[in-house]
Amino acid sequence: MRPRGIAILGSTGSIGTATLRVIARHADEFRVVALTAFGNATLLGEQADSTDPRYVGIVTPGGDADRAWATGAECLIEAATRPDVDVVVNAVVGAAGLQATLAALRAGKRVALANKESLVIGGEFVLRACHEGGGEIVPVDSEHSAIMQCIGARPESEISRLILTASGGPFREWDAERIAQATVQDALNHPTWTMGRKITVDSATLANKALEVIEAHYLFDVPYDRIDVVVHPQSIIHSFVEFVDGSVLAQLGFPTMELPILYALTHPGRVADAPARRFDPAAASPLTFEPVDVERFPSLALGIQAGRSGGVAPAVFNGANEQAVCLFLAGAIGFPDVPRAIESALAALSGLPAESIDDVAAADGAARAHVVELFR
Ligand code: NAD
Ligand code: MG
Repeated sequence: MRPRGIAILGSTGSIGTATLRVIARHADEFRVVALTAFGNATLLGEQADSTDPRYVGIVTPGGDADRAWATGAECLIEAATRPDVDVVVNAVVGAAGLQATLAALRAGKRVALANKESLVIGGEFVLRACHEGGGEIVPVDSEHSAIMQCIGARPESEISRLILTASGGPFREWDAERIAQATVQDALNHPTWTMGRKITVDSATLANKALEVIEAHYLFDVPYDRIDVVVHPQSIIHSFVEFVDGSVLAQLGFPTMELPILYALTHPGRVADAPARRFDPAAASPLTFEPVDVERFPSLALGIQAGRSGGVAPAVFNGANEQAVCLFLAGAIGFPDVPRAIESALAALSGLPAESIDDVAAADGAARAHVVELFR
């Protein structure tokens, strides 16, 4: 059988580079046919030299004019819809990944989805594109990969509850006063995962866990009152599923994104792999759990409430968060200003229904403008 063709959108990022490492170990099964990145032409060029894809796209080309690369934001959609692509790994960060997710699903592709923001803001529209185009969404997010593996082929009617684990981030043991003074460097100092800057800040505010609750709601069709979050500082148990008879299954392992990436490519099958570190229960112990402190991490409750509200609210939550994180990373606002911005944007903008994907895009833009205005 010919190797399956893979497009990697966001190949220069944390998930993108991990995906290339996984594929390099499985050259018989997978072949990189398309790569895209935002900038960083040097790294993209190295990746193109070593994988020889048929298509390379860069959103903002730098000086490397010699290369016959596609340019501009449309390159994501071109890469995602090529006939020789079987699986699209969407490893773009933020709302910028939405259109490519929709296009890939409409073209009947499997989307290995790291870009959770697509599903959070596009929700029903992403599911509809999937249904109508005959595509398939397989999550890369470790929690959702765990849940999918635990559910296996069991029907929805047998699932009673999902329990997402959260590391708690770098401020898990900080009091509110200290969190209020947190610097960019403090927020980027994640205890268990090395990731891109935006998701690392989201892990410090716990906005990431709110995005993941909404993601789980859409992926597994479970109502919000049956999705719980528990803090598990070791990040060994990647999530739990409770079934109607009270049985609870979990998926575990030392933290690495390479396994959920590989599984998203091979699901529902598995292939032999050589992980960096085999699981060792004694070395992993003790495993501890604690409730989330919603007072110190208001972004979590704000995001879950936005999910429950529906309409444009999840897009407002996500857009406000992206804009606020961008300002925080630039040193323009403080850490507690991030949830403040989200709360303000939701209060001003979240009441509208989402009748089309244009409504969602408009809400995203309005939320960003609201946050910029708030701190001007
Ligand atoms: P990153 O910042 O390391 O990489 C982002 C990639 O997207 C880069 O290749 C960049 O060139 C590209 N990109 C950025 N803006 C773009 C734009 N406007 N248009 C097109 N391409 C653009 O981010 P990451 O940590 O790899 O995260 C990627 C996605 O995966 C996020 O949605 C994140 O939430 C999710 N995720 C990441 C991890 C992780 O361990 N890093 C785990 C779970 C989920
Ligand atoms: Mg996750």
